[in-house]
Amino acid sequence: MTPPTPTTASETIAARLAEVRARIQAACERAGRGPSEVTLVAVSKGHPLEACAAAVAAGTPDLGENRVQEFAPKAQAAAAAGVEARWHFIGHLQTNKVRDALPHISVFHALDSTRLLEAITRETARLGDAGAAAAHPLPCYLEVNIGGEAQKQGIAPGQVGALLAAAADCPAVRVDGLMTVAPRAGDPEQVRPVFRALRELAETHGLTGLSMGMTDDFEVAIEEGATLIRVGRAIFGDRSG
Ligand SMILES: *Cc1c(COP(=O)(O)O)cnc(C)c1O
Repeated sequence: MTPPTPTTASETIAARLAEVRARIQAACERAGRGPSEVTLVAVSKGHPLEACAAAVAAGTPDLGENRVQEFAPKAQAAAAAGVEARWHFIGHLQTNKVRDALPHISVFHALDSTRLLEAITRETARLGDAGAAAAHPLPCYLEVNIGGEAQKQGIAPGQVGALLAAAADCPAVRVDGLMTVAPRAGDPEQVRPVFRALRELAETHGLTGLSMGMTDDFEVAIEEGATLIRVGRAIFGDRSG
C-alpha cells in the first residue's frame, strides 16, 4: 500500500524529513558510521514559524538560521509558542548584532574573528548574572574558507591556530570544531576534497566537530566525516529569497 499523499505543509515537511533521514542513514552505512554520529540541523531561514514547529514536531529540534533580523523575532515567537527548538546560528554575525542574537543561540557555527570573540565575551558578561544566555559556554565552530573563494565568509586555514588560541582564553565560548560552506558544484563529488581538507585541518588542531554539508552535498560530507549537516531546501522546499 502506498502512503497517502501529504496534504498539509507540516505533513510535507515530516515526509521530507523522513526522506533526508533515510539518506543520512544510507550515507552513514557506506561510511561505516552510526547515524547518531551525525546531527541534522534543519535550516529554516526564509520559512515561517509554522515550518519550524513542524520540523520540531517531526523529531528535528535542531534548527538553523543565518540572519539576525529574521532569527531573533522567530526564536522569540517560537519560545512564546512553546516550540522547543535548539537554534544554530549558521551565518556571519556582525558584532553589533551579537546582543540581539546571543540569548537565543545554542550552537554558533560561524566564529570568524577575534573582534567577534570579544563581542561575545562582553555580551556574555552583561547577560551573565541573569543567566540569560542560551548556552554557556557557547559551543562554537570556526568558519573556514577552505576553497579560498574571494566572496566567501570565513578565515583562511592558516588562521585557525591563532583564533583557537584566542578562543582558549575566553570562558564564554567552547570551540567544538570547524565549519565550511563548500563551493557550488554541479556534481557533489567535486566538493569531496573540500570536506576532506576541513577534516584534516580539524584533526591537525585536535578538533572533532565538523559542520559541513547542505542539501546538494550532505551525503558526501557524511562520507567525509561531517558531525553536523545543515540542510534547508531538501526539508522545507525552495526559499523565495
Ligand atoms: C542556507 C544555508 C544552508 C542550507 O542550504 P540548503 O542548500 O538549503 O540546504 C546551510 N548552511 C549555510 C551556512 C546556509 O546559509
